[in-house]
Amino acid sequence: MASSCTELAEIVNQGKLVSDEIIISLLSKRLEAGEAKGESGFLLDGFPRTVRQAEILDDVTDIDLVINLKLPENILVEKCLGRRICNQCGKNFNVASINAKGENGSPGISMAPLLPPSHCISKLITRADDTEAVVKERLRVYNDKSLPVEEFYRTQGKLLEFDLPGGIPESWPKLLEALNLDVHEGKQSAAA
Ligand SMILES: [Zn+2]
Repeated sequence: MASSCTELAEIVNQGKLVSDEIIISLLSKRLEAGEAKGESGFLLDGFPRTVRQAEILDDVTDIDLVINLKLPENILVEKCLGRRICNQCGKNFNVASINAKGENGSPGISMAPLLPPSHCISKLITRADDTEAVVKERLRVYNDKSLPVEEFYRTQGKLLEFDLPGGIPESWPKLLEALNLDVHEGKQSAAA
């Protein structure tokens, strides 16, 4: 496990994609373990990233719904570059303050920063893969390899497009609404 984690970290730090074999084997093990424990479902974050992975995933399990969380690219970059971690308590923060005006009829997007408490401020570090070059390389790889995945699920009628209206406080209720979920129900599962 240690070696595969190191392998994953090295690949991720270079902004590259992890090999399908590594991911599918880790994922299959995790899904089997969850099923054995009686888990009724699962949520994959940022996977599959290629059509090939999506095809393999279809052989491994059934996917009900794919949610495409969308933000304009300039905001994505700004948000990624604002990420900080406290090297003492390990908590994640974001110092980027987004205030984008709406263009061409689309609404503006505001995202408040997630600022650290005073005792963390002097201990903030930036992740090695949150440089502008790596973030832009991730976006290039996304547009090249992952955009076709949207089409893959769109043709299956499983793709839910969701334009993020702002940060988590603005987006969460709207996302639950789009999923036809009750806000209270959502809060419970988010806390669980
Ligand atoms: Zn801290």
